[in-house]
Amino acid sequence: MQELRERVAKACRVLGKLELTKAATGHISARVPGTETLLIRARGEGESGVRYTAPDDVIPVDFSGKKLAGRGDLEAPQEVFIHTWLYRTRPDVAAVVHAHPKTVVLFTICNKPLLPIYGAYDPTSVKLLLEGIPLYPRSITVSNDKLGEEFASTMKGHACCLMRGHGITTCGPSVEEATLTAIKLNELADMNYRAHLLGDPQPIPDEDIAHFKSGSKGKGKHSNALWRYYCSLVGEEG
Ligand SMILES: [Zn+2]
Repeated sequence: MQELRERVAKACRVLGKLELTKAATGHISARVPGTETLLIRARGEGESGVRYTAPDDVIPVDFSGKKLAGRGDLEAPQEVFIHTWLYRTRPDVAAVVHAHPKTVVLFTICNKPLLPIYGAYDPTSVKLLLEGIPLYPRSITVSNDKLGEEFASTMKGHACCLMRGHGITTCGPSVEEATLTAIKLNELADMNYRAHLLGDPQPIPDEDIAHFKSGSKGKGKHSNALWRYYCSLVGEEG
């Protein structure tokens, strides 16, 4: 439990330091294996900003969203239902990231699609796009079971989902993988954004799209190294 709590806290700090979410908005969680409990970055009077998350900012919560333990000045985030419904409906999901990255959110606001404008520049992030990124069309806070269920059914089996005028949610088989997916999604949006500023972004050729769609079998092969890189980049131990 303690090790998992430390990993969640560290992933929060990495996201915060990379400026993928501001101040206190956003949370990362991990499923406690074999239980109906998750560990999640808490909100409340005693919280630190995402980039300063300490292990004791991460509290256990059950699948109904109820806090099970932790400091008195902390509570489960309002949007805990994003997390609980992904764990309830997808046994493969071990970790969930919810954040508000500015550049990605701008695309949902302007109703501009993210385009596959590069290939070998960053194959894993373009692959994410080619696998399909759903958009949750509502901009409200996902603060109850009904909305959590609705959100999870929009995200379906995907690794990430855009939330209109709000943010993103990613998930994966580990805290680190889910966090890397959020970083990649942000990279994809950042390049699209810059391309729009410069001119008229065009998708790469169809045959190259097919190539990247079929993807390398070595998916995730370099994930550990990439995670260590981002940790080092922001001054965390890898
Ligand atoms: Zn949110």
